[in-house]
Amino acid sequence: MQTHFTPAQLADPDLQSADAILRRCVHCGFCNATCPTYQITGDELDGPRGRIYLIKGLLEGDGAASNKVAGHLDRCLSCLACMTTCPSGVNYMHLIDQARPRIVNHAGRDWPARWQRGLLARLLPHVARFRLLLVIARHVIKYIPLPLRLRPLRELLQTAPPDAATPLAAHHPATAPRRGAVALLAGCVQQVFGSEINLATVRLLNRAGYDVDVIKDACCGAIAHHLGHESNALAQIRTNATRWSEGAGRWQAIIVNASGCGTMLKDYAYLLRNDPGCAAAVATLVPLFKDISEFMAMDGNLPPATAAPAGLRIISQAPCSLRHGQLVSEQPRQLLQEHGFIVIAAPNDNTCCGSAGTYNLLQPELAETLGRNKAAALDAAGGDVIASGNLGCMMQIGRFSNLPRVHTVQLLDWASGGPRPSAIANGRQTRYSRVND
Ligand code: SF4
Ligand code: SF4
Repeated sequence: MQTHFTPAQLADPDLQSADAILRRCVHCGFCNATCPTYQITGDELDGPRGRIYLIKGLLEGDGAASNKVAGHLDRCLSCLACMTTCPSGVNYMHLIDQARPRIVNHAGRDWPARWQRGLLARLLPHVARFRLLLVIARHVIKYIPLPLRLRPLRELLQTAPPDAATPLAAHHPATAPRRGAVALLAGCVQQVFGSEINLATVRLLNRAGYDVDVIKDACCGAIAHHLGHESNALAQIRTNATRWSEGAGRWQAIIVNASGCGTMLKDYAYLLRNDPGCAAAVATLVPLFKDISEFMAMDGNLPPATAAPAGLRIISQAPCSLRHGQLVSEQPRQLLQEHGFIVIAAPNDNTCCGSAGTYNLLQPELAETLGRNKAAALDAAGGDVIASGNLGCMMQIGRFSNLPRVHTVQLLDWASGGPRPSAIANGRQTRYSRVND
């Protein structure tokens, strides 16, 4: 693709990087074929090729986005299916990442949208604030008429499990012959909505011979980053890089069990590219970031199966952030098979479920269409349980599916001696209620 940046613009390392990415695009449009939003709207500007043109215009111009441009870019899920499809290696993720802060700064949105995004960026990454809001939501918010934009957030809060306030201990010693130590990033939303996943991860790692240090008070920065609040995101990333690099010598890996966070963490070197003071910390940390399925698939890490439930058919769903963002898709299936589960490949697995971080709160109509399509395909696949590697996908699919949803790690924990996941144990659909319930 031809670009028209001025020499002054190209002195900016960010625009230089964007220029190099844009020039790789040969306009072939293969990426449109796998773009979920293009498949729904059929609008070229809601596909990656069209969005790349819009971003080029935004970056080459004065940076001011019209509502129309902001609308098409806001509808992007950042699912990254276009990146695994592109034959030219266009790094779409780094392009849209440059566009989003410009939309925030240049006010291409109306004030309610800006207000909503600001609220999410200030709330979700902070576990204590989020837990407080949950308490308020349980007792107060459900009785208050809210603006349309905030209703999806209320729906989300009402699906929180009853044990949402149970904190995880900071240190968990190995329960088998010791192989080393790892850190577990407990996540922010996950500590509130998925404490059962974190507990299963800790037990599995302990049983594999690892001491586990839990990192509880840190957000990877993905929420602020995807909302375009770049200075907040970079501040979080810098703090994490500095703090974690101090403990990195003790850990063989920093385990992530929310794949959306994993994609972000593995991109820290690029995100801090303009910050030479963090280069050494990032060089130490990035190789340590491992999705739990990646780590358990490493030589000898998976504890033996002791209680594999015979004949349970698992539909293994690969979240976009694992499949496209981290190029990890086979490990969860292999691990489940090794532990005696019958694994069914999820149909339509290349297409996003519509969760995409805060997307289902910001773009509820498109997210609902994607969620319904995904759930219908999974429900028809002939399985008993859906296993995913990302809490967000479990919750989004759970709004529309008839099957129990669990994290892959819960099944691995169960099969190697842990408790049966509550979503399966209680014979109810799941802890996350469905839209139609
Ligand atoms: S990231 Fe996903 S939604 Fe966005 S352009 Fe690429 S394929 Fe489409
Ligand atoms: S597939 Fe790649 S090269 Fe082709 S239009 Fe899409 S981004 Fe450009």
